[in-house]
Amino acid sequence: MCNVMHEAAYCSLNLHPMWQEPLAVPGGDKQSPIDITVRKSVFDSRLRPLKAQYDPRSCQQIWNNGYSFLVEYDDTNDKSTLKGGPLEDQFRLCQFHFHWGENKAWGSEHSIDRRLYPAELHIVHWNSDKYSLFEEAVVEENGLAVIGVFLKVGKRHEGLQKLVGALPAVRHKDSVVEFTKFDPACLLPKNIDDYWTYAGSLTTPPLTEAVTWIIMKQHIEVSHDQLAVFRSLLFTSAEEQVQKSMVNNFRVQQDLKGRAVRSSFTPFLQDAPSME
Ligand SMILES: [Zn+2]
Repeated sequence: MCNVMHEAAYCSLNLHPMWQEPLAVPGGDKQSPIDITVRKSVFDSRLRPLKAQYDPRSCQQIWNNGYSFLVEYDDTNDKSTLKGGPLEDQFRLCQFHFHWGENKAWGSEHSIDRRLYPAELHIVHWNSDKYSLFEEAVVEENGLAVIGVFLKVGKRHEGLQKLVGALPAVRHKDSVVEFTKFDPACLLPKNIDDYWTYAGSLTTPPLTEAVTWIIMKQHIEVSHDQLAVFRSLLFTSAEEQVQKSMVNNFRVQQDLKGRAVRSSFTPFLQDAPSME
């Protein structure tokens, strides 16, 4: 929609404190987020369907960390897992969160052919076959798997509403509220078999290049009012003099630097050799 605005929003507004200091970017050749150019993505027939098995009982709390809100899961066992797709190992669900803009023209971190969405969901998992803690996996190659889902403004999302209803309780930075029995699978699009995948990084510090990104082709719809509740949250704690709205909490896009983006689906069937 408007990638120029993506940058402009970032430059003209007050930069979030997290991005004000120089950051140690490890390596730097596999950073996220990126723009996905559909015609340059490569169909890979070996990419299998994704198997997400989530137990809503492992949902524990919502935390406003001063940059987004995190819905956190008990990850001391393999109750909620992700496997299949591009993944060789089993990954354990630890949290999900969103990135969003101040209006519906931007907000997502990834874009498709330069088109941004108003928001993007990230469901974060760590490799429990190879590592024993998130903290260990986050600094290792193949340590994390993150599902990205684009949000578009449209119909009210009934699954999201339970979460939206709980958000006023975590308006300020550092607030935490108990939140249980939420299945993040309700936030996935109908077709989870069509996705793009590439090797990248976390989009918040420590920015480690540990992430297998799985970006859903289908978006989900949420209402303007539901996104307005996201925007009513605050970057600031209750004690701070000047309160700041939690908006534009995305990282600027990064160069692809020769990486391949693979797709589990063929974007253009008409490109197949014709019979004639
Ligand atoms: Zn994220």
